[in-house]
This record gives sequence, C-alpha cells and structure tokens, in this order.
Amino acid sequence: MKVRSVKEGNTEILVPIPAEGANFAPSAAPVFYNPVMEMNRDISVAATSAFVKRMEPDPEKVITYVDALSASGIRGLRISNELGVHTTLNDWSEEACALIQQNIDNLEIDHNTVASHKNANVLLHEKHFNIVDLDPFGTPGPFLAAAARSVVNLLEVTATDTAPLCGAHLNSGIRKYAAIPFNNEYHSEMGVRMLLGKIARELSLHDKAMNPLLTHATRHYVRTYLEIKKGAKRADTMLQNMGFIAHCPQCGHRESIHGLAVPIKDNCSHCDGKNIIGGPMWLGKLHNPDFCNETITELETRNCGTKQFAIKMLELCRDELDIPMFYDQHLICKKVGVSASRIETVIQELQNRGFLASRTHFSGTSFKTDANISEIELIIADIR
Ligand code: SAM
Repeated sequence: MKVRSVKEGNTEILVPIPAEGANFAPSAAPVFYNPVMEMNRDISVAATSAFVKRMEPDPEKVITYVDALSASGIRGLRISNELGVHTTLNDWSEEACALIQQNIDNLEIDHNTVASHKNANVLLHEKHFNIVDLDPFGTPGPFLAAAARSVVNLLEVTATDTAPLCGAHLNSGIRKYAAIPFNNEYHSEMGVRMLLGKIARELSLHDKAMNPLLTHATRHYVRTYLEIKKGAKRADTMLQNMGFIAHCPQCGHRESIHGLAVPIKDNCSHCDGKNIIGGPMWLGKLHNPDFCNETITELETRNCGTKQFAIKMLELCRDELDIPMFYDQHLICKKVGVSASRIETVIQELQNRGFLASRTHFSGTSFKTDANISEIELIIADIR
C-alpha cells in the first residue's frame, strides 16, 4: 500500500494513496481516509477536550476513549496526540491495523495508545470505555447495542446514511431505525431526531440515559455528542422525550406529540387536512449551550484547519431554539407569493410580534419559532 503524509490539527499521519486509475472515492482505498470529514474531526477533538475538562479527572484515574471503527486512525490518533487521553484504535481490517500501528509508532504515543484488531461489537461487549466514538460507513445501527453497553460517560456517533434517516429511502429508514421518517423541507432535522430516538432506546435497555450536548447535520452526515448517565429512573425520564410529529402537507402545520402509545389526530388541528405521522423519534434538546461555548473556546485555542466554519456552525447550534421542526422561508414565500427576505429580518419580525424565533444550523434559509403556520405566513407577507 502506497502512503502519503497528511496533517490535521497538530497530528501528522500516513494515509493510503489510491492506486493510479482507481476509483478515487475514499471508500475504494485499501484503508479509508476522507479529507472532507476534517471539520467533523476538528469538532470531535474540541468537543472531547471540552468534555474531558468537565470530568475534572482525578490524576490517578485514567480516562479511556475508543475509536471503534478507526480506518487510518486519524480520529483517535488526534485525540491521543492532542489531548493525551488513553486511546484504543480499533479496526477489523488487517491493513488498517498495520497502518494504525505505524502511525502510533511515528507519533511516539505508544505509552497511552493501543491498536486493536477486532470486530468492534466484540471489543465493545468486552470492555467499558469512558468515551465511545462510532464513525462507521453509513448507519451506526449495527454497533449501537454494543456501544450502549460499553459507554460510561460520553457517546459520540456519526451517521452518513442520510437517505434512510431523512426519508428518501423510506423502507431502509424503517428497518434501520424502527421509525417512520418523512422527506420534506425539514428532512435534515428529521434525520437527526430519528438517529437520536434510536440511540435513546438502545441506551434505555441498559438503564442508561443520554443528555445531548451537541448535534449537527452537515453535508452528508449527522454527528452527535451525548453525555451518558446511569440509572433506570433517568432512563425513564429520558424516554419522555420520545414521540411523534404530525405534519399537515396541505398547510405546513406541524405538532409534536410526546409519548409512545398516544392518540394522534388523523386531521390537522389547523386546516383539517390529512396529517402524516413520523416517529417515534427524539423530540428533546439537541444541544447544551454551555457545552457549545466550551467547544467553541477549544476550537478558538486549538490548531485546526476548519476553525472558522466549525465555530460559525457551533454558534448557530448554540443559539437555535429547542423547538422541533424548522420552517423554510422559501417554501412559505412561494405559497404566500412574496419574495424572500434576509433571514435575520424574518426572525426580527417574528420577535417584534412577541414570538420566539431563531436561525438554525440546519439551513441558512430557515428558522425556528413558536409561531404557528398562519402567524408565520401573515408576518412573511407583511415584510416589505
Ligand atoms: N473513523 C475513520 C475516520 O475518521 O477517518 C473512518 C472510519 S471508516 C468510515 C469505517 C471503518 O470501519 C473501516 O475502516 C472498516 O474497516 C471498519 N469496520 C467496518 N465494520 C467493522 C467492524 N464490524 N468491526 C471493526 N471495524 C469495522
């Protein structure tokens, strides 16, 4: 395998060069490395560092982190090299494992970093780790049961199967997440809430609860950072965040319905159109603003290539309202027959009329609000 050197953050590692004339998709290389995911990894390092600082470690106690699906090891190597956390880098590919070991040796971090050559599910069933990171090809579904068992303090998960999560591949989404998504203007938020709903149910099997610290949908993936607490009561309380969305395609009104066995109206409470129902999914918070600020501080003070974009996105995450689901201004303008305004103008106008309103990291042309669809349409029509 031919390799080249790349540097992300303060960490220089070897990654494969795809054979000449070969398919240049990162997944076609003998060991996977995708430069497009650098921002995901920059935020990972910053968020993990912020979390480790929150844990206020006893100097005697070792914090353990596992990158359960490591490939070249870039993610976990950065955690180990830049944060000094005790790290396990696991991959079932022999070539990946050999490259990981070479990278550990080159970085001289073998005192706190080990390569592991196992099925991730076996490793996660064998051992508990304070921090578990899942960054798979596509869905994390096959690894969630083992990760939920293994994790003690922080679960970090990427999902790149946005088509099933967002309802574009409906049956695949139902199979993988045991829930019904719909593919409309807020499909990216739908995907996030489908994934979190699945993780919450996996954790509850182990009497564990999650508290989302930061969750973002970026390009082709969803990434979440979940603080974990043990306890059956906590798990019961967490599950109260599960529920459904009743959406009326006729008028765009949507309602959150909390609970797993709850009556849901067939018809829209607003225009009497026929509702479509999505779920069960996570209807709770996606972020903790203090944690977003702590992660932003880490990004500001660290060496990372995507600093500006990452900070901008995290500020949007920090400031967005907790209300599911966002509204797309363009869609509403089309319906009302007016041209779109600056998103800040729409938000200001909603706030002037006494509603809660914010931008959202999901889309630059969208907003979150507690106003209903008729109130929004009136306000948008009035902006001149
Ligand atoms: N985390 C890496 C990064 O940031 O560049 C990318 C990981 S890549 C998307 C997924 C990796 O999971 C591949 O290297 C593959 O060999 C490995 N893998 C897939 N199924 C596995 C399993 N059951 N156990 C261990 N490794 C597995």
